Amino acid sequence: MQDKSAPEEFDVVIVGRGPVGATLANLLGLCGVRTLVLEREARTYHLPRAVHFDDECMRVFQTLGLADAILPHVILSPGMLFLDADGRMLLDWSRPQTLTPMGWNLSYRFHQPDLEDALIAGLARWPHIALRNRCDVFALDQDEIGVRVRYEDLSNGRLSEVRAGYVIGCDGARSLVRRFIGSGMDDLGFHERWLVIDVLLKRNRDDLGDYSIQHCDPRRPATYVRGTGTRRRWEITVLPDEDSQVVAQPAKVWELLSRWITPEDAELERAAVYTFHSIIAQQWRSGRLLLAGDSAHQTPPFLGQGMCAGIRDAANLAWKLAAVLRGLADPSLLDTYQSERQPHVREFIELAIRLGGVINTKAIEAGLAAGEARANAPVRLEVKKPLLGPGLALGDLPLAGHLAPQFELKDGRRGDDRVGYSHVLLVESAATISSRLALSQSGTEILTSDDAEGVGSWLREHGIIAALVRPDRYVRGSAGNDTDLDRLIAAVTPPTHVPSAA
Ligand SMILES: Cc1cc2nc3c(=O)[nH]c(=O)nc-3n(C[C@H](O)[C@H](O)[C@H](O)COP(=O)(O)OP(=O)(O)OC[C@H]3O[C@@H](n4cnc5c(N)ncnc54)[C@H](O)[C@@H]3O)c2cc1C
Repeated sequence: MQDKSAPEEFDVVIVGRGPVGATLANLLGLCGVRTLVLEREARTYHLPRAVHFDDECMRVFQTLGLADAILPHVILSPGMLFLDADGRMLLDWSRPQTLTPMGWNLSYRFHQPDLEDALIAGLARWPHIALRNRCDVFALDQDEIGVRVRYEDLSNGRLSEVRAGYVIGCDGARSLVRRFIGSGMDDLGFHERWLVIDVLLKRNRDDLGDYSIQHCDPRRPATYVRGTGTRRRWEITVLPDEDSQVVAQPAKVWELLSRWITPEDAELERAAVYTFHSIIAQQWRSGRLLLAGDSAHQTPPFLGQGMCAGIRDAANLAWKLAAVLRGLADPSLLDTYQSERQPHVREFIELAIRLGGVINTKAIEAGLAAGEARANAPVRLEVKKPLLGPGLALGDLPLAGHLAPQFELKDGRRGDDRVGYSHVLLVESAATISSRLALSQSGTEILTSDDAEGVGSWLREHGIIAALVRPDRYVRGSAGNDTDLDRLIAAVTPPTHVPSAA
């Protein structure tokens, strides 16, 4: 009989249900991992934050089975233009409107609370996932077999505790879990105050346009973003001698907006001053405590990649946690989480800082060098997704650490819907694999040219006969011959199978 005085036990406790905590909880829901999410607030965060996510994030939301719930709340973005003080275009970051190899569009605009609501609603599908709002975690004590998690229920002041196999700090910039890990931060040097304003249009202002505009004006750098529905966003630099409180007062906000919009056009929804940082935690794991999202890294928002990086953290971490908790992998697998993710996020932050140098006009030439110079035309920017850092990917095999494409199945479905959050071996024909039984017992799916026409041509294009793709859609390794193929198959740990949520 269960001891009623013993604390409840969970495989994982997630501290914070922002977009990263909620994504991680949904992924652990898919994996069947008993999870408790503890969140201090009653509702989603009320101040203006993320407005853009990319094709890779949408692919993660598809894996969660939530793409259909999220799609009605997004619009496609045509891209971003950087203009100098005279309105001349310095940098053209237009985005194609066609599907990328991820099977989704390159750039979506959204309203962060809408996304968070969809992610939170998704949690209700999993009986083994619990969410407790208004619960403020204040202490973590880890021992050999787990972590004691203490929290206060802010609705009644009651102190409670639970035990967890692992605790993941998705608890944002001022992370408590990071303090318990004792991690310092690497500072990449960018810290600027910006006033962030959301307005709701009262009348049509199509002239503002659909492109995001970076006004690289040395007097007062500013950003315009077309939001979803009637929402429009401006982010405006706060000058060194300005007071953060004063600059966020409505009268001052309207004064700063007056070159674009007036109170006749729109109502002010919210305005807040943020200091944009560029920092990365030095240590993302200590034993049973780990970090994901803003607790592990923060970036200036110029690439729209802060939350995206956290969503990638969740996709990288969840299947590894599930494998360790099931006893199918050694806990050291969790060390590959930081080694893979940290260099990836660092590259994005460094690029965001370079673009920040164009916007604040302090390092225009260096920033423009990130793009492709063209004769008689503005520099064109195309952002390549960084590679995973060293970890599980079989580094001596081609394509390892790159994102794998998503193939369209012959029945018209997207390939990931068949694969689920599992490993998949891409191969021309299943008949060529002698160890099919071992693969299926390990939970690895097989996708062939019989399932999706694109598989064979993609393999041939890269001069390989097979590729092993991880649940987070990164290539673990590829095979140019039968010996490589045997190595790939041997490497398939953890042998987990997670059904598709679609
Ligand atoms: C102006 C602005 C624009 C941005 N634009 C973009 C963009 O376009 N694209 C993009 O990808 N990113 C963007 N970002 C970044 C993005 O908003 C963040 O990266 C994202 O919100 C981080 O998510 P998270 O879940 O890691 O943390 P958070 O969203 O901060 O969530 C952390 C949660 O943990 C809870 N919590 C904290 N401590 C405790 C505790 N002790 N106990 C219980 N709960 C706790 C908090 O209440 C909170 O709900 C932008 C940010 C800003 C400020």
